[in-house]
Amino acid sequence: MMEKPSPLVITLAPTGIVPSRDQAPHLPITPTEIATDVKRCFAAGARLFHIHARTEEGEATCRREVFAEIVGRVRQAVPQAILCVSTSGRRFPSYQDRSEVLDLEGELKPDLASLTPGSMNFPREASINSPEIIGRLATAMQERGIVPELEIFDFGMVDYVHYLIGKKVLRPPFVFNLLLGSLGTLSASPLNLALMVERLPAGAFWSAAGIGRFQFSMNALGIAMGGHVRTGLEDNLFLDRDKLQPATNAGLVERIARQAEALERPLATPEQARRILGLPTLNP
Ligand code: ZN
Repeated sequence: MMEKPSPLVITLAPTGIVPSRDQAPHLPITPTEIATDVKRCFAAGARLFHIHARTEEGEATCRREVFAEIVGRVRQAVPQAILCVSTSGRRFPSYQDRSEVLDLEGELKPDLASLTPGSMNFPREASINSPEIIGRLATAMQERGIVPELEIFDFGMVDYVHYLIGKKVLRPPFVFNLLLGSLGTLSASPLNLALMVERLPAGAFWSAAGIGRFQFSMNALGIAMGGHVRTGLEDNLFLDRDKLQPATNAGLVERIARQAEALERPLATPEQARRILGLPTLNP
């Protein structure tokens, strides 16, 4: 166990690709809705925000101008929020589509961008990440000073990260999101999470996320083990195990804050979060 509890960094994934308003009545979709949710969740203790973009019809999109509007509104609403944009290839497999968002500049440049180091299945679709695309996305991020958020769904992806570090395609800081319990990849058990954490590069930042009903238990393990957590409607739509109460993003963050308090983990301040993630501070 930890000698002294380190501050907890809460990541929020508010929207994702899959959920619809029919399934999740409180899902933020438009740039204004996303900014409003980020503000509420920042107030509740979330620091890092993993952003997906949607069209006005609610469909997933990779268009830079939509991301620009979201990032602009969020930065205006919460200047201290740490932003990560998605480069997911689930709906848009080409490098060109996936990398558009990396060209946002100035105030709109994201702090991090997602990078999945391997191909995999989700319950109803495949996510293809070829070695070529992984390498090109990683290189583009490195050139622009955007930190990759390494999204890990299986052990082999951690091994591949070590290979990319050896090739200098990836450099510190190493920020990992460990997502367990998605059908088609690694199941959400304490042993699987512990083994995965054991295999990470020394000094890596890691968050534990569980898909669906596994969210709460994986988050609890992340807090207890001295790691960090990711929550949000992207991963889970309900506040309770019986799936009776539709979740809100703020409700999910508040639930983490209560867990953290019970386990005596203080929530990271914005500056602490940047330091723990290895990001440059805003006011040096
Ligand atoms: Zn995502």
